Amino acid sequence: MTRVATDPIAALLAIADRPGRAGRLTHLEALPAREAVSTAWPPWVAPSVLEGCRARGVEWPWTHQAEAASLAWAGQSVVVSTGTASGKSLAYLLPALSTLAHADAPTRARDRGPTVLYVAPTKALAHDQLGAVCETGAGVAGLRCAPVDGDTPREERDWARAHANWVLTNPDMLHRSLLPGHERWGRFLAGLSYVVIDECHHYRGVFGSHVAHVLRRLRRLAAHYGARPTFVLASATIAEPDHCARRLTGLDVHPVTEDGSPRGPGVLALWEPPLTDVAGERGAPTRRSATAETADLLTELVIDGVRTLAFVRSRRGAESVAMTARRQLAEAHPDLMDSVATYRGGYLPEDRRALEADMRAGRLLGTAATNALELGVDLVGLDAVVMAGFPGTRAALWQQAGRAGRRGRPSVGVLVARDDPLDTYLVRHPDALLGRPVEATVLDPDNPYVLGPHLCAAAQELPLSDADIELFGPGAPAGLEALTTEGLLRRRPRGWFWTRRERACDLADIRSGAGAPVQVVESAEGRLLGTVDAAAAHASVHEGAIHLHRGQPFLVRSFDVDEGVALVEAAEPDYSTTARELTHIQIETIDDTRGCDGADLHLGRVQVTAQVVAYLRRRLFTGEVLGEEPLDLPPRQLTSMAVWWTLDDDAVEATGVEACDLAGAAHAAEHASIGLLPLFATCDRWDIGGVSTALHPDTGKLTVFVYDGHPGGAGFAERGFAVAGRWLDTTRQAIAGCECIEGCPSCVQSPKCGNGNSPLHKPGAVRLLDALLTRLHNVPTYA
Ligand SMILES: [Zn+2]
Ligand SMILES: [Zn+2]
Repeated sequence: MTRVATDPIAALLAIADRPGRAGRLTHLEALPAREAVSTAWPPWVAPSVLEGCRARGVEWPWTHQAEAASLAWAGQSVVVSTGTASGKSLAYLLPALSTLAHADAPTRARDRGPTVLYVAPTKALAHDQLGAVCETGAGVAGLRCAPVDGDTPREERDWARAHANWVLTNPDMLHRSLLPGHERWGRFLAGLSYVVIDECHHYRGVFGSHVAHVLRRLRRLAAHYGARPTFVLASATIAEPDHCARRLTGLDVHPVTEDGSPRGPGVLALWEPPLTDVAGERGAPTRRSATAETADLLTELVIDGVRTLAFVRSRRGAESVAMTARRQLAEAHPDLMDSVATYRGGYLPEDRRALEADMRAGRLLGTAATNALELGVDLVGLDAVVMAGFPGTRAALWQQAGRAGRRGRPSVGVLVARDDPLDTYLVRHPDALLGRPVEATVLDPDNPYVLGPHLCAAAQELPLSDADIELFGPGAPAGLEALTTEGLLRRRPRGWFWTRRERACDLADIRSGAGAPVQVVESAEGRLLGTVDAAAAHASVHEGAIHLHRGQPFLVRSFDVDEGVALVEAAEPDYSTTARELTHIQIETIDDTRGCDGADLHLGRVQVTAQVVAYLRRRLFTGEVLGEEPLDLPPRQLTSMAVWWTLDDDAVEATGVEACDLAGAAHAAEHASIGLLPLFATCDRWDIGGVSTALHPDTGKLTVFVYDGHPGGAGFAERGFAVAGRWLDTTRQAIAGCECIEGCPSCVQSPKCGNGNSPLHKPGAVRLLDALLTRLHNVPTYA
């Protein structure tokens, strides 16, 4: 039986109107259709490239494509920050392919002519791009395109090195292979005309900071061979794309943000699950889980013939959503039961293609996938996307929602809130998602723990001269001195040299932070599953933890702290785990301060002592707390950056908060502010931590700290300091706006609190923040 497809917007409204659903649809934003704004082809585009574009169905470029392409053609590095499916690739395909097309045939065999390097965060994306380059450049004589990644067979890599003029790769490959082996890539680097950094909003936090140095090393080597490439970056819609691109590349980058691509009519719906009878920690009210609510929405949309994709955090969660939908359909509409499936990464390519074909043909109406597939999912013809929880960044939200919308048909995106302060705030304050982006891609190339290994790698590639120092930022002189003292580098008249036999690039694992990463080993077969950042290991692979690897759950059997090995086994538990951590902080330096009238805000370096002391088990779907297990793990020391605020005694007294409630009030403010910082900086609440106290020994005042959880900092505290007014104001609203009485997971309770969410004083937190904010707003220079 074929379903007659209902208008997805009408279907969603009807679902929201069903009995007992009042208040769940908190906001419905109409996203009006937008006409395409096309323009003429820039006159410099090579005829063969124009032909290639037309063959792919591109009659005219959209304005943002032409603008960015022309800037890049003129040698200006550029970042295109526009929506999903806005054809950002044309911005680099046009100038880069035209450069190859216009180039004279090399006169000498050893000349390569101009070359292009394309860098994507994942191998899969680089492979997808290969097709686009080959199609658009089909008529470009002499285009020789090759992917180079960890899977490339030796002969193909040799061929690429000898002949390719368009290489597609990833930052890991640059770091470990291309740059250290630059002598063999000399001719390719000598011709380097364009460097394309695709999906550059993925380069954030510690990973982004590493990539920033990999790109500086690339620029230095290109210059050594006589090339000064133009950088073209493509980003999802973020705040301050030019600032982020400058931090990433170290270059002056021009932003292009005016999107000329067309869009069908659509809506973004914000959805808040109801409070349930399940009592949470300390009797706090809890909400129905986002996954349970998502399963209901998927079921009902499928019944209405709406082709829907649900994004869920874990593979297990995605399977539960699909299973629940199938079970519900078996009762209500048995004929539809088989039209719901799970879409996951492990499938073979042919299985995946079959699934995609079923979706296109309408045999499959509902699919549940994990967020991990955000870049890989290639489902077309969807009417609706339901997201079980905020996917972490606004860019990811629009990327996921943007998957819905068949040509000309209306589309629906639904964000279902999880029971935490950020999701709750977002579904109640639609402007935070719909207004101008406030979320910036945050990274910190000056982190000494990140910088050091790259200075070593650079010195091994080519001795570092005085002239190179500026390229690596203000921390470079001190970094070089420290590395020389340690004996890793040696100062000679011609610069700094790497003194060891081993490969300097092995000092840094660019996908994780400082320190040797912990190895995650499957105990039965001794197979290495992957690694976990040293800084995150205590919280994520302690004994008894349910560790998700690419969305799949594994139970941690044992964790050897000294060896850095966690033994795990595949498991299908009906619960998840969250670690609880106790933290102490000592202030080392104060780098910046703003304040007025007894309220001060600081940014500085701190010494953090953190200890994972226990973990909670929670039932999947309901979130019910099943129990808390103590852990015996040693404390860890960490030097990092923090933002903190203080109120002096008079200011505190004026708030009227009782002395006995002050610790709870500060603690509640700390939890909520950690929950909301990810709205302004692209971090996860697990990337940051906090400490609060009614009297801190270093300040002598009531103090609330929020620190970067990565050694040396990843830029999150710095971003918090820069936007503190808006960030803490948002925090205040989130606490004051929650309907609970004494605090709940949607406002001031934190799943990782080492003190078991006690004491917490919700009304006191609002009063402390009021006192802080009114005083800070009186600071004249305050943003
Ligand atoms: Zn609450
Ligand atoms: Zn706490």
